[in-house]
Amino acid sequence: MLRKIHELMQKHSSFLVVAHERPDGDAIGSTLAFYHILRGFGKNAVVYSQDRIPENYLFLPGSERIVQELPSVENFEVAIILDCGEMERVGTHAAEIASIPNLINIDHHMSNGGFCEVCLIDPNASSTGELLFRLLRYSKISLTSEIATCLYAAILTDTGGFRYGNTHSSSLMAAAKLVDGGADPQWISENIYESDPAGRIHLLSMVLPNLILEEDGKVGSLIVTQKALAEARALPEHSEGFVDLPRSIKGVQISILYAETPDSRFKISLRSKGRINIEKVARFLGGGGHTNAAGCRVAGELEDIRRQVIGAIRAYVPELYKKEQ
Ligand code: 5GP
Ligand code: MN
Repeated sequence: MLRKIHELMQKHSSFLVVAHERPDGDAIGSTLAFYHILRGFGKNAVVYSQDRIPENYLFLPGSERIVQELPSVENFEVAIILDCGEMERVGTHAAEIASIPNLINIDHHMSNGGFCEVCLIDPNASSTGELLFRLLRYSKISLTSEIATCLYAAILTDTGGFRYGNTHSSSLMAAAKLVDGGADPQWISENIYESDPAGRIHLLSMVLPNLILEEDGKVGSLIVTQKALAEARALPEHSEGFVDLPRSIKGVQISILYAETPDSRFKISLRSKGRINIEKVARFLGGGGHTNAAGCRVAGELEDIRRQVIGAIRAYVPELYKKEQ
C-alpha cells in the first residue's frame, strides 16, 4: 500500500488534502505535513478544513494556506483523506470530495472499515502523523523543518503529550527523528498547551463545580453548555482537553465531556484508562475512535443522553464493575 500511495503521489499533479471536521492536532499537523511534502515534489496541493483551525495551531507552518471554502472538486486528481475512519468525518462536503477520481485514506482509527481502495490504516499507530512518518521513510522523502514541526505536533497531541497507551517505542522513535529534523519540542508545546486565552480558564472555572462522579467513582464527567460558553466568552474549541481532568482523578477509569453544540446536540468525548475499551461505547452511540479516546454526537436532552451513555458503559464495559478494578 505504501508503494501504491507513493506511485499516486508521483503520477498526479493536483491534490486535495483533508482531515476531519473540528480538526485536532493530529488532523492539522498531518494535513499540513502532507501539504509540505507535496509542495516539495512541485505538486499543486490545497488543504481544506470545513471548520476553523483553533488558534493554538496557527503557529504551524502553512496554516495560513488552509481554506475553509471547498474549491471545485474538478480541480483535483487525488484526494488525501487523513485521520478519518469514515468518509463522512470530513464534514458536509463528503460526497463531493468522494467524487474525486483517486482517493487515498491514511488513518489509525479502529473503526475504519476501509472506505478507500488505496489506504494505509493501522489502529496500532499512535497518530496519523506517525503513519506519515512511515510514508516519508518508505518514499525516502527528506525531512524539512516544516514537515518535522507538523508531524511532531500531530504525534505529540494524539499521544496526550506522550502519555497515553498509544505511545509506543515507534512513536518516540519518530518524535526523536523529527527533533533531529528541526522540530523544537519546547516551542511546539508552548504554542499548543500554554497559549490559552483567559476565556478558557473562565470557562473551566464555571464547569468544574459541576463535576459528576458516578458508578462508584469510576466514571467522571464534565458538562459544557452553550450558556457557559457565552458567559465565559469562550469558543467551543476552548473546552479541548477538559475531558482529561476527570480522568486525572484517582479511581476514575472513564471520563466524559458533554459539550453542547449550537444545534442543541451534544458532542461527547470519552476517555479511559488502561485496558478499558471506550470505543465500543462510542460506536454504539453512533461514533467511533480508539480504545482509550473516542467520541460521538447525540441529539436530545442532557439527562436522557447521560442515561444512555451510562447504560452503554454498563453494557459494553462490564470489566469496569468487576471487584478488582
Ligand atoms: P475527541 O473527543 O478528542 O473529539 O475525539 C477523540 C477520538 O474520537 C478521535 O480519535 C476522534 O476521531 C474520535 N471521534 C470523536 N468524535 C467522533 C464522532 O462523532 N464520530 C467518530 N466516528 N469518531 C469520533
Ligand atoms: Mn488522530
